[in-house]
Amino acid sequence: MKTYDVIIIGGGQAGISVAYFLRRYKLDYLILDSQETPGGRWNQVWDSLHLFSPREYSSLSGWQFPKNKEVYAPKDEVIDYYTKYESRYELNVERPVEVDKVKFEDGIYKISSNKGDFMAKAVVVATGANNIPEIPNIKNKDQYKGIQMHSLDYRTPNDFVGKKTLILGGGNSGAQILAEVSEHTETVWATLQEPQFLPDDQDGRYLFTRSNEAYLNGKTDVSLKDDLGKIVMVAPVKEARERDVLHARKSDFEFTEDGVIWGNGEEEKFDAVIYSTGFKPDLSLLSSLDVIEDNKIATNETESIKQKGLYLVGLGNWTGYASATIYGVGKTARDTAQKIANYLDK
Ligand code: FAD
Repeated sequence: MKTYDVIIIGGGQAGISVAYFLRRYKLDYLILDSQETPGGRWNQVWDSLHLFSPREYSSLSGWQFPKNKEVYAPKDEVIDYYTKYESRYELNVERPVEVDKVKFEDGIYKISSNKGDFMAKAVVVATGANNIPEIPNIKNKDQYKGIQMHSLDYRTPNDFVGKKTLILGGGNSGAQILAEVSEHTETVWATLQEPQFLPDDQDGRYLFTRSNEAYLNGKTDVSLKDDLGKIVMVAPVKEARERDVLHARKSDFEFTEDGVIWGNGEEEKFDAVIYSTGFKPDLSLLSSLDVIEDNKIATNETESIKQKGLYLVGLGNWTGYASATIYGVGKTARDTAQKIANYLDK
């Protein structure tokens, strides 16, 4: 069986960015991706989703995101751009291949998948920061008989027409899903803390410009850190505010069979609950390497400290500053490719 220099697991923006830079070192790499087509998880986000990063902050390394009058691109344009990026740089990808285990035996990585085994001298895990839904353990959750859906599975408000819906979570996803579902049915928004909104004139462009400045100056910008947690007033969220539905109540309830009992004892019926309550990366494919602690892996930048030749890209800030954003993943990918080349002595 052939031994590749590098196998990259995951063909979203992180995986293809690493591959882009590995080409410079003439390394023999292969991307294994479980999607049918390019685009990573953008293939599964909800139908109406637009980027919150402006076009000028949505480019992968080497090739600009297409310009257009609309500042924030819809998801289909993101997928199209990634598809063309792969062809433009003739990236070596196999799809759909679902990796289930990575082992390290006799100095070589053995990667098993639903399409057979692969071998490599180094492995990059770029499987995304968003694959396991985080669902709060609310009392009597299992007794509730209505629809329960995580934002990872949410696609369209049409599924909720005529169904009174409780939406949980005070981040951008929660606000955006509330904005569109409330156009089709009665909604209640519940959050742990009072939601924080950015002023209307501070949009994604403002956040990305300041983030970039802070990064280039090597400074921690405390107020920026605060602002990054706030809801961006994209057009549908502003419009929900105009319709007077952008109000959250405290998420202090337990479930009943057909709804909830709020902290004040009031009962309310709901046909559906949508959890916009976050996600985490799935590292289970690395379980036989003995590197996982608290769903993280100790790294020196993107390189595992315990397991030489293992790299993690795009799984959150712990694998590189802003590495889970389109703009931010480039630097992390470039540094990782260089580290791999050094490791393989190329
Ligand atoms: P993913 O896109 O998740 O790609 C990982 C790939 O690995 C997928 O193709 C998956 O199928 C594959 N995979 C997973 N497990 C396996 C396995 N075992 N074997 C083989 N393949 C596997 N960032 C911005 O910069 N601007 C934005 O406006 C923006 N908006 C966002 C909006 C939402 C709602 C979300 C959730 C994120 C947003 N992001 C944004 C962040 C980021 O761009 C996306 O999360 C992006 O999908 C991350 O890319 P990735 O390559 O790291 O992971």
